[in-house]
Amino acid sequence: MAKTFDVGIGSLVSDGVRAPAAQQASGREAAAVALLPLPLRGAPGAAPPGDGSVPAGKSFFLETFGCQMNDHDSEKVAGVLQGRGYHAVESPALADLVLYNTCSIREKAAQKVFARLGDWKTLADGKIIGVLGCLAQQEGEEIFERAPWVSLVCGSASYRKLPDLIAQLESGGRRVTGLDLDTDQTFETEITRRDNMLRAYITIIEGCDYACSYCVVPHTRGPERSRASDAVLSEARRLADAGYTEIQLLGQTVNSYRDPSPRQWKFVDLLRGVAAVPGIRRVRFTTSHPNDFHRSIVEAIDEVPELCDHVHLPVQSGSTRVLRDMLRTYTREEYLEKIVWIRAARRPISITSDVIVGFPGETEADFAETLSLLDAAQYDAIFSFKYSPRPNTSAMHMPDAIPEEEKSRRLAVLNEHQRAIQIAANQRRIGQCYEVLVDGRHPQRTQWGGRTTCNRLINFTSPRGNLLGEYVQVKITRAGPNSFAGEHVT
Ligand code: SAM
Ligand code: SF4
Repeated sequence: MAKTFDVGIGSLVSDGVRAPAAQQASGREAAAVALLPLPLRGAPGAAPPGDGSVPAGKSFFLETFGCQMNDHDSEKVAGVLQGRGYHAVESPALADLVLYNTCSIREKAAQKVFARLGDWKTLADGKIIGVLGCLAQQEGEEIFERAPWVSLVCGSASYRKLPDLIAQLESGGRRVTGLDLDTDQTFETEITRRDNMLRAYITIIEGCDYACSYCVVPHTRGPERSRASDAVLSEARRLADAGYTEIQLLGQTVNSYRDPSPRQWKFVDLLRGVAAVPGIRRVRFTTSHPNDFHRSIVEAIDEVPELCDHVHLPVQSGSTRVLRDMLRTYTREEYLEKIVWIRAARRPISITSDVIVGFPGETEADFAETLSLLDAAQYDAIFSFKYSPRPNTSAMHMPDAIPEEEKSRRLAVLNEHQRAIQIAANQRRIGQCYEVLVDGRHPQRTQWGGRTTCNRLINFTSPRGNLLGEYVQVKITRAGPNSFAGEHVT
């Protein structure tokens, strides 16, 4: 298969590191194509208004590591800074304020942040260096010990305090922290910078009330708290007015959403509500927890054309024994029952997943069950990870750790297995037509690129001129394991 178009969604071994937001194509799934700017009608937060009460002309550089939630948190943090008169610069060397929005989901991601901080050991003079996000929450004031040139350490559960913390730094504060976890508040911003000109993120739920034994998130993002449905709907309306047609609802467990307002909407009500906003053509959501994935979500997708034909439903393991040790709250059979619901939908829905290999005590037989679950689920793509022991998690001290080489072997076997599934499934799609939202162009190859409602990446040729931001019909002519090539059907 031609290598040139074989990129996009697929079996990703993620190390959790992101380029600065401005350099990203579309968050988690780096598109094969260069994203060219599309003019929109006054995207929210595009112009930094400043409030006159802060020094003008200060600059900031913000680099984001980790998941889409972090990408979007950074958009909000950038909005807060713009509201205080700061402007973004492309290089940390040019910035007065350098911020790292961090991830600590796996050890490698945390190490990368400390490597970045090390760069400032002798150069930080005169700059304010800050650490935000999961690593900030996890390491807390220890960061000042390891990197004394850092002045700000703030976890995501304290972002609402950022304006105060920045004000303290501006008035000479040497070390400021926002590390409270015990909150029922969400991070609301007047201004949100939007880094993707076509897909806008809306966080609907923060934190997590599950306690998966391998996962740092409940310790780094705090308890689950949902935003009021009115706040979400008005944000969706503002985005639609600004020209956005695609919205992605975000949460670590997005489908655990519970409206705190008297309206008391469940997740599925909110899905339908956002999809009904005039101008919105596509609504995505991630990440769904299998335990809160009810048949009503599939029914809503079936009934509401604006809801995208894609569900990201992480399984983590195919072995009920391992799932129990992971504290995932479902069995293999219960999970597969939900896959059956999704597969029984009236329109084909693509399903993606996250899988961890090498969890403590995972036997060859457990691993074989994960491989057979891939066969049963027929995922469109998976994100696959080697288990990484994390502080403050109960799995950290579990016996029977799997050696690193064995984890790597299982990861390679898993990815090869999934690759074969994707090659076979994608070949069957040759000749089919899909609606694509065009989000980029590869100038050398004179190809356009975009995603289907199933989140499949298609690069295609067209006789037409500028297609950015348009919805077009594309016929698939070739298929790789992770993406497709096609022709614009005019
Ligand atoms: N809330 C989502 C869920 O329940 O599926 C997952 C969010 S987590 C940020 C993203 C993925 O990272 C997880 O689905 C899991 O596969 C992976 N992950 C989390 N902790 C990990 C660890 N300690 N080692 C390896 N992978 C991990
Ligand atoms: Fe982590 Fe589990 Fe919460 Fe997902 S549901 S964020 S994996 S603790």
